[in-house]
Amino acid sequence: MLANYGYEDASGTYYITIDTDMCAECTDHACVGSCPAGLYDIILDDYDDEVAEIREEQRNSLRTLCSGCKAGGKTDWPCTAACAAGAIRHSW
Ligand code: SF4
Ligand code: SF4
Repeated sequence: MLANYGYEDASGTYYITIDTDMCAECTDHACVGSCPAGLYDIILDDYDDEVAEIREEQRNSLRTLCSGCKAGGKTDWPCTAACAAGAIRHSW
């Protein structure tokens, strides 16, 4: 399943999409430790699989929270680099 976390406003759309089918096969959960903003958490989904999600209290601040990683147009963010399966996508 593709799970979308984020929001849109007048300046754009700010969503992180996580492919939880890939998370269910993941053993290292490297996304959690990689993110300097601590955005990723591991939860049990409805199928009792361990999957990543974006912490609820941070979902409406993604543009600000990710701004350090994306400064200067960088595209090699810690979260996507850490996830070997390629389960993480950003919309901006
Ligand atoms: S590292 Fe990737 S596949 Fe593993 S739990 Fe995190 S987002 Fe899911
Ligand atoms: S871009 Fe940086 S702050 Fe944003 S989710 Fe990825 S690692 Fe975390």
